[in-house]
Amino acid sequence: MSYKIKQNKDLCVGCGGCVTVCAQNWKMDGPKAEPINITVEDIGCNQKAADVCPVKCITITE
Ligand code: SF4
Repeated sequence: MSYKIKQNKDLCVGCGGCVTVCAQNWKMDGPKAEPINITVEDIGCNQKAADVCPVKCITITE
């Protein structure tokens, strides 16, 4: 099973929450965050990143 990580970067407010809970797959890119890999074999901490995001701009699909 692999998962696609999507982020609506326009909505990102750069709070850094996703990076804090999931540094394995999220990094800051200037004032906004972005995923390091958009396809992952293991959902890992990406669900935590989606859950913590205050603007709910991260979605995960199988
Ligand atoms: S948690 Fe959401 S709003 Fe905050 S930096 Fe990550 S993607 Fe952006």
